[in-house]
Amino acid sequence: MRRRLVVGNWKMHGLCAQSAALARGVRDGARALAHAQGMRAAEIVLCPPFTQLTNVHRLLVDASGDARSPSNETTLAPGQVGLGAQDCHVGSFGAYTGDVSAAMLADVGATHVILGHSERRLGHGEIDSLVRDKAASAMEAGLTPIICLGETQKEREAGQATARVSSQIMRSVPDGFAGVIAYEPIWAIGTGAAATLDDIAAIAAPIRTALRERLGPAGDDVRLLYGGSVTPKEAPGILGLGAVDGVLVGGASLQIEKFLAIAEAAGQA
Ligand code: PEP
Repeated sequence: MRRRLVVGNWKMHGLCAQSAALARGVRDGARALAHAQGMRAAEIVLCPPFTQLTNVHRLLVDASGDARSPSNETTLAPGQVGLGAQDCHVGSFGAYTGDVSAAMLADVGATHVILGHSERRLGHGEIDSLVRDKAASAMEAGLTPIICLGETQKEREAGQATARVSSQIMRSVPDGFAGVIAYEPIWAIGTGAAATLDDIAAIAAPIRTALRERLGPAGDDVRLLYGGSVTPKEAPGILGLGAVDGVLVGGASLQIEKFLAIAEAAGQA
C-alpha cells in the first residue's frame, strides 16, 4: 500500500504569529501521531503562503531535517512534516515581476508545490500546458509537484466529469512525472459539500486509467488525493476508499485539531 499523504493548503491565510502557532501545533501533533501509529502514520505537508515559507520551515526543520530528494517523489518519515508552496513560475530566474521559481522554493526548504489549483486555473487563467511545464520545472528543482484537477458543476451535470479529468491528466502531467495528483471537484471546494464516497470511487478509476495511459506502468505509483471540503467527519470514509491515497485539505487545515484529526484518520485507514 502507498503511504497516506495529508496536505494542508492554507491559501492566502497566515500572518507571522498565526502561522507559527499553526506550524508548531501540527509539528508536535505529527510527532505524537508518529509515536502512536509508527510507520502507518500519514505523511503530512503544510503549504503556507510564500511569505510564511521561511517562518514555517524554521519551525518544521527542527523536527525533520531536509526531506528534499533531487529526482524522486519526496518521502517523509513519520513525524516529519514537509513544506509546500501553492504555486511556482515555470522558469528558474529572470525578469518576471512578482513571480517565484521552484528553485527559490527549494532554496527556502520547500519539498512540495501545489500546481494547477482551480483557484489558479480560474483566477489566473492557468492552462494545462502551463501546469505541465511548471510541474517539470518543480521536479527539476527537486520538488514534488501536487497537480490539482477536477470538473466544474456544469461539466458534472453534463456528464463530462470523466472526460474533463482524463484530458487534464493527458495535458497537465509532464513526462517522467514523479509527483502527486489531487482530484478536487470544483463544486466541492470550500462549499462544505464534499463529494460522496461513490462519486470519488467512480472517478478514481478513470483517473488511474488516464495516468496509466499517460505514464505507462509508472502511473500506478502516482498517489491520488481527494480534495474538497474534507473535515474530520468525512475523512475516515474517504481515506477508507482503497482508491484514494490521501487528502488535500483547505479550510480545515487552518485549525490544528481538525487537521490533526484528519491526519490521525489517515494513519488508521
Ligand atoms: C482546496 O482548496 O484545495 C480545498 C480542498 O479547500 P477546502 O478543503 O476548503 O474545500
